[in-house]
Amino acid sequence: MWLPCGCTSKNIVTSFRRRVYKSSVHILGRWRCNVAAFMPEAAGFEGVSDRSALQEFSVNNSESFWAAAARQRLSWIRPFHTVQDCDLSRGRIKWFEGGQLNVSVNCLDRHVHTCPEKVALIWERDEPGSEVKITYRQLLEMTCRLGNLLRQRGVKRGDCVTVYMPTCPLAVASMLACARIGAAHNVVFAGFSAEALAERIRDAQSSTVITVNQGVRGGKVTDLKKTVDAAVQGCPSVKQVFVAMRTENPVAMTARDVAMEEEMLKEDSVCEPAAMDSEDVLFLLHTSGSTGKPKGLVHTQAGYLLYAALTHRYVFSYHDGDVFGCVADIGWITGHSYSVYGPLANGGTSVLFESTPIYPDPGRYWETVQRLKINQFYGAPTAIRLLLKYGDQWVHKYDRSTLTTLGSVGEPINTEAWEWYHRVVGDGRCPVVDTWWQTETGGICITPRPSEPDAEIVPGMAMRPFFGIKPVLMDTEGKVLTSNHTSGSLCIAQPWPGMARTIHNNHQRFIETYCQPHPGTGRRVQDKRPSPRSRRFLGHKLTSSRLSTGYFFTGDGAYRSKEGYYQITGRLDDVINVSGHRIGTAEIEDVVNQCSAVAESAVIGYSHNIKGQGVYAFAVLKQDVEVQGAELRQQLNNMVSKKIAKYACPDFIQFVQRLPKTRSGKIMRRVLRKVVERDVDGVGDLSTLDDPAAVQEIIQGHRELCRKQL
Ligand code: AMP
Repeated sequence: MWLPCGCTSKNIVTSFRRRVYKSSVHILGRWRCNVAAFMPEAAGFEGVSDRSALQEFSVNNSESFWAAAARQRLSWIRPFHTVQDCDLSRGRIKWFEGGQLNVSVNCLDRHVHTCPEKVALIWERDEPGSEVKITYRQLLEMTCRLGNLLRQRGVKRGDCVTVYMPTCPLAVASMLACARIGAAHNVVFAGFSAEALAERIRDAQSSTVITVNQGVRGGKVTDLKKTVDAAVQGCPSVKQVFVAMRTENPVAMTARDVAMEEEMLKEDSVCEPAAMDSEDVLFLLHTSGSTGKPKGLVHTQAGYLLYAALTHRYVFSYHDGDVFGCVADIGWITGHSYSVYGPLANGGTSVLFESTPIYPDPGRYWETVQRLKINQFYGAPTAIRLLLKYGDQWVHKYDRSTLTTLGSVGEPINTEAWEWYHRVVGDGRCPVVDTWWQTETGGICITPRPSEPDAEIVPGMAMRPFFGIKPVLMDTEGKVLTSNHTSGSLCIAQPWPGMARTIHNNHQRFIETYCQPHPGTGRRVQDKRPSPRSRRFLGHKLTSSRLSTGYFFTGDGAYRSKEGYYQITGRLDDVINVSGHRIGTAEIEDVVNQCSAVAESAVIGYSHNIKGQGVYAFAVLKQDVEVQGAELRQQLNNMVSKKIAKYACPDFIQFVQRLPKTRSGKIMRRVLRKVVERDVDGVGDLSTLDDPAAVQEIIQGHRELCRKQL
């Protein structure tokens, strides 16, 4: 759907004539033409003759690059006058100021004008073979009716609507309806408990919640409306709950509840889109940090949409007519960027997957690929590891010849899983792209593609930065490490349009977490900045942009290989990644500590062969506790499941007399990790501990627990 390459028939003739006369010009012309065919905007970038030059240009001339992409890829109500005004060291991030647009118009109306009957969404419902196709015309109509309903019921520009729904077209319409009328959305993963939902509703100060009567996943029905009922009891801000019907089972409605589909039918199918400033909030999405309180990351309109669209197009080599199958839940950033915003901004066809990888059997993904003729498949390593164990026959049973690219997201993919994905699922012919990114980055930042089509891909490595991304590694002193074959804290040295702008209600926490973990770093290490020339582009006059200083600290560690490729080595903070879901150990500790039997606790992650990381909890019990052993473990698991979500439940709970602590009282989680990894020698010097004997007891207790539980 993008404009064809700058290589019109006139250009072809010209390059043909040149070839006759001078072969060197021909070669240059051919490359130029290829790069422009690959990315139309590149035709205007001076000296960009191949994809690696394009990558370099995008980093060194970041403003020209993003300005051109924004003009070409987005439809603006009013053009922007400033490409960027960023100072990472102060947490100021602004892109495309002066510009106005509407995200839902970009995702829907402009495609309805050109191809109304094109399929926008394929809802792969839990029941195999019962998929529902929604065209761009239908999705626009759904969005407009819902937008009108929200408006009519008092939702205004700047409000924030919480969406607690499984992956389905009405959830997408809810997100887009918010965008249409200028409200922000706050999607909460429908696996979160009532308390976790309530916390997120309160943080967003939502007066409206959208949900369904029941969710259906893996053949199991869950009463999502009941969870919302329980949650809103603790949320005085909530005035209304819109309830859609996923199943035919009746649901108890109160005066606060609105029968969503019924009311939508009464609304007009045309809804005036709000003209939104580039930096108005598009959505909040909560993610875990190293404290007990989840953070609501804020993404804004233009920059986020542009970045989602560009990464979707180029990382996966998505072409018009392809069917894109991202199987993530819309409750996570992957679902936001690659089930909804990226594919729809590109006028693509996106699969919404409601089920699980093993329902009704372990062939589900590949049967879906065959039936829906999926071209790009994007899934999580945890699912790949699980399916690998069921054997190749579940894959071979189905035709996967439509597949062209396989993506991996959310956590490191181990070599065995990568190779199986490549060799068995992709028959050895589809590139596997291990994509590194975060809720905070808005879209994929490090990934093997786009690079030259035959460029090598190393298993289990995210490898190369995306356009406009400049990764650096930093040591603990805040010094940038310039050599290869080295490891450090992964930072990004210049802003990009897709990055989060702040933490809702807590900009100071944003600055402290992402902009200055090493005090003073941002100002001490100065990098070469783009030349002023890069701000002039194609004759467009831009007002002077402020050039950025500082770094974005990702919280991940990475290794840069001899060849300069990046490999993510894991979190540097107390955050763990369970089945691709991020969770702060402090969040789990907070819940465990609420148990009346527990005096204190420490939670760590450990290596788990399916989930990537499992949860291991140590708990010190109060004296004279009556309930112990299995019963108390069950009680603690129920609490975690009720207060957070099932996936956060500890796999192991070890009761200990005391925890290893420094003399200043800090729990030594490093020591606990070594015990669980069975690396007793690695425990290191215990002389700084308040009570070194505690460690021996813990080692002994760990052995006993493993003997019983494994
Ligand atoms: P989330 O924001 O919930 O998507 O989690 C992001 C975190 O997941 C990152 O900070 C990494 O720790 C981890 N992660 C995501 N993608 C990858 C990847 N391709 N390789 C290794 N870790 C990853």
